[in-house]
Amino acid sequence: MNQCASPGCRQVVVAKRAQDPRDPRRSSYGPSSPYEIPSRFCEKHTCAYFWKAAGCTAKKAHHDSVCPMHTKCPITGCNLGRLQVLDVDSEETTPQYIRYELCGEHKCSIPNCPEEKAQSEGRNGFLPFCKKHRCHYPLCDQKKLDGRPYCMKHKCKAETCQMVMEDGFTLCALHVVCEIPGCKTTKALDKNSKDYLKWCALRESTLPMYGDAGQSILTAPRYQV
Ligand SMILES: [Zn+2]
Ligand SMILES: [Zn+2]
Ligand SMILES: [Zn+2]
Ligand SMILES: [Zn+2]
Ligand SMILES: [Zn+2]
Ligand SMILES: [Zn+2]
Ligand SMILES: [Zn+2]
Repeated sequence: MNQCASPGCRQVVVAKRAQDPRDPRRSSYGPSSPYEIPSRFCEKHTCAYFWKAAGCTAKKAHHDSVCPMHTKCPITGCNLGRLQVLDVDSEETTPQYIRYELCGEHKCSIPNCPEEKAQSEGRNGFLPFCKKHRCHYPLCDQKKLDGRPYCMKHKCKAETCQMVMEDGFTLCALHVVCEIPGCKTTKALDKNSKDYLKWCALRESTLPMYGDAGQSILTAPRYQV
């Protein structure tokens, strides 16, 4: 049984199974089997990257999850440390910390989301949210509505519609068109309520001429000219 290489530590080293039995790192003095690759350290002092294929052999501080080399944010040019949070599942008596893959600047602003912030189109820099959480409207920096592609500002105002608003309207390309079959004109807007009417301005203003069109038209709100 090998003892942890950290001075003063009396724990036994941990080991992982060698994927390849000819792996030169495997050891015949490993804790249990010759097909295991031993760490130089115990569980408390072994970097989380030891368990990955490359196998980090550096020592980590007890309270951290990785060695100093692996604390750095992987984004090119970033010198910040990967965001650290208290490990609430730890059963240790002293506070233990786990790390996100990225630093606080590059991680999505949603607290539990580990994803990278989305790159902003056109401008340099990042949006506050990741690809999964950002509004899909170009250059918008808002969070999208849950389960919808757009934020409140860019979503069609029709209740269950998932589409983006047309430029200059609060409805999507489908909902903004007059509901008279074959008519391609946009719906008229009620000047008082600012709500869209069912039909275009022409149809609304000439309504009496279409008196035989049916009950629904006669009971529909009238467009004020
Ligand atoms: Zn140790
Ligand atoms: Zn490491
Ligand atoms: Zn970073
Ligand atoms: Zn996110
Ligand atoms: Zn938006
Ligand atoms: Zn719509
Ligand atoms: Zn129309």
